Amino acid sequence: MIKEALGKDRIEQVIIGNIDGSKVETKQADALYIFIGAKPFTDWIGKEIIRNDKGFIETGRDAKSYDSFERIWKLKRDPYLLETSAHGIFAAGDVHANAMNQVASAVGEGSMAISFVHKYLAEV
Ligand SMILES: Cc1cc2nc3c(=O)[nH]c(=O)nc-3n(C[C@H](O)[C@H](O)[C@H](O)COP(=O)(O)OP(=O)(O)OC[C@H]3O[C@@H](n4cnc5c(N)ncnc54)[C@H](O)[C@@H]3O)c2cc1C
Repeated sequence: MIKEALGKDRIEQVIIGNIDGSKVETKQADALYIFIGAKPFTDWIGKEIIRNDKGFIETGRDAKSYDSFERIWKLKRDPYLLETSAHGIFAAGDVHANAMNQVASAVGEGSMAISFVHKYLAEV
């Protein structure tokens, strides 16, 4: 992680180190790009919604590759696109695994999910 940015009139160096403080080093740098939002906050979600090892929610056929899927999924059909392993619950946007991480796709998936919600409601 970045501990400090150094420079006179512009950025010249960054001091980076491990989160536990075990290694710290100084690197020359002409620019610093901040990348936030890569960690999903999904710890509160129940185990019936399968997540990958990074916490992103598995949807559609991808969810089927998990051992726990057979135990959780009770329907004869496969999950719809964007449907989680808990039938009738959908995930769209960055929070689902293998997302495109673009505003346009997050918005598009939101409206796609709604159409699948209607399809799901028609079958229950
Ligand atoms: C630094 C950066 C630059 C980017 N630049 C671009 C770009 O130039 N072009 C582009 O197309 N995309 C860009 N993206 C990606 C784009 O921002 C995302 O793909 C998009 O915002 C995803 O939308 P989303 O609705 O899935 O998630 P988000 O926009 O992250 O929205 C999720 C929302 O849910 C809220 N939330 C989280 N947990 C809870 C909870 N428990 N209860 C209630 N609310 C909760 C969050 O606070 C947040 O408001 C960029 C992303 C980053 C991080």
